[in-house]
Amino acid sequence: MIDLHVHTTASDGTATPTAVIQEARSIGLDAISITDHDTFDAYEEAVPAAREAGLQLIWGIEISTKLVQPGKTFGKTVHLLGYFPKGPAPEFLEWIKEQQQARHERNVQLCGRLRQFDIDITMDEVKALGRNMAGRPHFAKLMVQKGYVETIQEAFDKYLDERGQAYVEKHDPTLAEGIRHIRDSGGVSSLAHPVRLNKVGTQEEDLIRQMAKMGMHAIEAYHCDHTERHQERYQLMARRYDLTVTGGSDYHGDLKPEVKLGTGRNNNVVVPNKVLDRLRALAR
Ligand SMILES: [Zn+2]
Ligand SMILES: [Zn+2]
Repeated sequence: MIDLHVHTTASDGTATPTAVIQEARSIGLDAISITDHDTFDAYEEAVPAAREAGLQLIWGIEISTKLVQPGKTFGKTVHLLGYFPKGPAPEFLEWIKEQQQARHERNVQLCGRLRQFDIDITMDEVKALGRNMAGRPHFAKLMVQKGYVETIQEAFDKYLDERGQAYVEKHDPTLAEGIRHIRDSGGVSSLAHPVRLNKVGTQEEDLIRQMAKMGMHAIEAYHCDHTERHQERYQLMARRYDLTVTGGSDYHGDLKPEVKLGTGRNNNVVVPNKVLDRLRALAR
């Protein structure tokens, strides 16, 4: 059994890379991929830890992208998994670094916009709270803590949302860009938790077909948010649009204590080893 969707303290998980490797080993997993949000930071610690534990570790990442639909102004956030069984190419690492820089600059701008409304939030405060993932939720939390607003919702409604007074546009890459960068650097791209597209029936199928056309390799059929029916549906979609399937628990440690490494919610995730064989065959 394997788990190809795992978060650590390098993004919003609560278990360190080493703790995750040890847990994977102790529950008898054959391989895992650490897929932190928009960063490979866990790998510095995870690579030697996995080697020592004798566990296969597949390089992975979960990228926030946006999918802009015709006629809509704001893009829908879509999480895209990237897998690199041979390690990510230098140009891909460079691209990830550029994305992180863009996110940092956006936060700096947001601090400036808020100051115009006499709201004093510093980058140090935001970073202390959000680390690699620092963004609007952390601004909102600080605004509540410092008494500028009553609730997180109010912070978003008045200031941070698309229609808020201090809104600064987010420069997430498009889904198509994400897919292209992963493909061009020899990786395998997979649509994370398709159930969260929040579409059903033909609308959902249309989106998946579009993504397959963009060159996406795979779809995450096994996920802690998927029922057995979802799993079957996404496997059907995979066959229909010539995609491979991936899967994992989306483990976040104590942040979501009901989701277990390797097995998801009440054992609703069981990812067979052959998933990894296909993934390796697709990667260059
Ligand atoms: Zn996700
Ligand atoms: Zn995730």
